[in-house]
Amino acid sequence: MAEPGREKSSHRHTLYDRARACYLGLAVGDALGATTEFMTPGEIRATHTIHKNICGGGWLRLKPGQVTDDTEMSLALGRAVLERGWCLSGIADNFVAWMRGKPVDIGATCRRGIRSYLLKGQLEQPVNEWDAGNGAAMRMAPVALLTLGDDVLLMRCALEQARLTHHHPLSDAACITIGRMIHHSLTGCDRFALHALTRDLVADHPRFQFSRYDGQASAYVVDTLRTVFHYFFTTGSFEECLIGVVNQGGDADTTGAIAGMIAGAFYGCDAIPRRWLKKLDPSIREDVEEQAIRLIQLSPLVRRQIGDGHPLTQEKNHEI
Ligand code: MN
Ligand code: MN
Repeated sequence: MAEPGREKSSHRHTLYDRARACYLGLAVGDALGATTEFMTPGEIRATHTIHKNICGGGWLRLKPGQVTDDTEMSLALGRAVLERGWCLSGIADNFVAWMRGKPVDIGATCRRGIRSYLLKGQLEQPVNEWDAGNGAAMRMAPVALLTLGDDVLLMRCALEQARLTHHHPLSDAACITIGRMIHHSLTGCDRFALHALTRDLVADHPRFQFSRYDGQASAYVVDTLRTVFHYFFTTGSFEECLIGVVNQGGDADTTGAIAGMIAGAFYGCDAIPRRWLKKLDPSIREDVEEQAIRLIQLSPLVRRQIGDGHPLTQEKNHEI
């Protein structure tokens, strides 16, 4: 039997690997899916037969390996937290700076949320029946890494970051479920445990039912999650899951990003095809890997393991 100290450090090695895979999965899924964003499955078949390589293009005319708002907003959020602790105005400031840098793409709801912070200092959007898009859900990877080991903290951080731009019960529920699926995956659960989390979501919000998937993969967070869940639970590898999702078209970069963060955390780094990692923009790859490790090191779970207090639980780090 391994000595206890060694066992702990090998657990941590696996955990850090899954954390990197979660964030890399997001970026890889975004870069892969951007090519087929807004296409129908028929159009994708006619153009690519099966889309399975990171090749850029798409309606945004991306370079191969270039990512979009899904990864960029996640990195902006992660950077804010690493610099200032959990501070919503810090996150909003980074979103403003990102928007001013003329990003290749920005969703209308995100733009409106960022503008209302800029003009009115507003850190929470009012409830809006049109805010059930997937723009908050796509930013959940850094939040899940940061809050691992504390479900109450996950819920709080998920909802606060979400409502900077999106305030809708279906978006809120989606964000929390994605966060929980990542948490469970990071600590090495099986797929039945993940399926149980989706059943909890469906019990609260029956629209997320995905057992009879109808192929809708729009930016409506219900369509997005049904697509992700359908392919995650009907495939047996990271690669197969991601290829299924992005060949469904629709909001393919975002379904790719969300499938990538969950499947990445679940399957680990070795499961991400090398050809995809090699194509990913090297500076993005470096940023996501570095943030993944630094965020997981701040998580309550790792803090408890190494016997350190958690900075997020100390009042002085709450600016809000
Ligand atoms: Mn995007
Ligand atoms: Mn998208």
